[in-house]
Amino acid sequence: MAADSLGVYIHIPFCVRKCAYCSFYSSPADETVRQAYTEALCRDILSYGGRGLGCDTVYFGGGTPTALESGQLIKILEVVKTAFDMDSDAEVTLEANPDSAAPEKLEALRAAGFNRISFGVQSLDDRELSALGRLHDSKKAIVAVKNARAAGFENISCDMMLGIPHQDTASMLATARGLTGLGISHISAYMLSVEEGTPFFEQGIEVDDDRLADMYLALCEQLGSEGFEHYEISNFAKQNRRSRHNMRYWQDREYLGLGCRAHSFFEDRRFFCDEDIKTYISSVSHRLTVSEEHPDRLEEYILLGLRTSDGISFERLKELGADEERLQRIRECAVMLESHGLCRFSGSGFSLTEKGFLSSNSVIAQLELC
Ligand code: SF4
Repeated sequence: MAADSLGVYIHIPFCVRKCAYCSFYSSPADETVRQAYTEALCRDILSYGGRGLGCDTVYFGGGTPTALESGQLIKILEVVKTAFDMDSDAEVTLEANPDSAAPEKLEALRAAGFNRISFGVQSLDDRELSALGRLHDSKKAIVAVKNARAAGFENISCDMMLGIPHQDTASMLATARGLTGLGISHISAYMLSVEEGTPFFEQGIEVDDDRLADMYLALCEQLGSEGFEHYEISNFAKQNRRSRHNMRYWQDREYLGLGCRAHSFFEDRRFFCDEDIKTYISSVSHRLTVSEEHPDRLEEYILLGLRTSDGISFERLKELGADEERLQRIRECAVMLESHGLCRFSGSGFSLTEKGFLSSNSVIAQLELC
């Protein structure tokens, strides 16, 4: 592995159809646009070649990466391998939707080097899937996971959602059990958030926070009893199956995002490609908007580290510049949070409990003010 190993994120902004709750930058596109985007993306990736940059994780996210043909996805991965010194053991993840994951496509992608797949399942209840506006039903989702395994994917993750219309704790837990019963090794569980501009917002759909909190805690208990480590607010993994790529974000390590609207933390700057699909395709050099030069690593360490079960250590806080007075204030704040069951101390630092994860925004904000 090269010394400067990065995580490389590849953004595919296409979806066959918009889901009713989705506020991400993605849209349907015809084959001409998808091919032109693939070519523009390959040029963008190659512009980072020749610099001796290594990478040990690659993540194809979206949108729906599997909205591209397998040949296009494989071409992009080959270009990543050309531009970066890729670790032979690199984790290569592909986000996929069950409706665009035919067996032969999965086989071709696995053979080309994709070794982790993350399905946007959301639910195994057909009424809930229909309310979300998803293209697949539960049967299709189950078949897709089985096909991925048959194609040789051993590292399979599924996304599920909490707070879907018609969902209750029993149906949410049935989805979780249905997914774990398929032998997957990772689950990402996201809470529904209704964003302005989405059909859900127009329909006035509301999320009941108390109901969501009950579901979240019930899910944590269920997955914990099945041997899943709750390693980040929304993520659960079997042993050694944490998402290595996403851990980078929470460990405040550098990554390069390629494609329109992709975000990067590279060479001590945070920036994103501020272009729409059309502009991205026609650009020779891309319009990158810098959101932060020299980010405050101490504050980021607190903010990101507390999202994970590893938490933060006092030694690292000190290395990042916290003086004795600040350390003492953080310690006192953590003691207060512990007394409310929101955090727990380990030998060298502390982390949030599941109850703490539930109110992580306000808990972390308190610690940042210390
Ligand atoms: S598949 Fe994902 S990115 Fe695409 S519209 Fe649905 S939620 Fe949004």
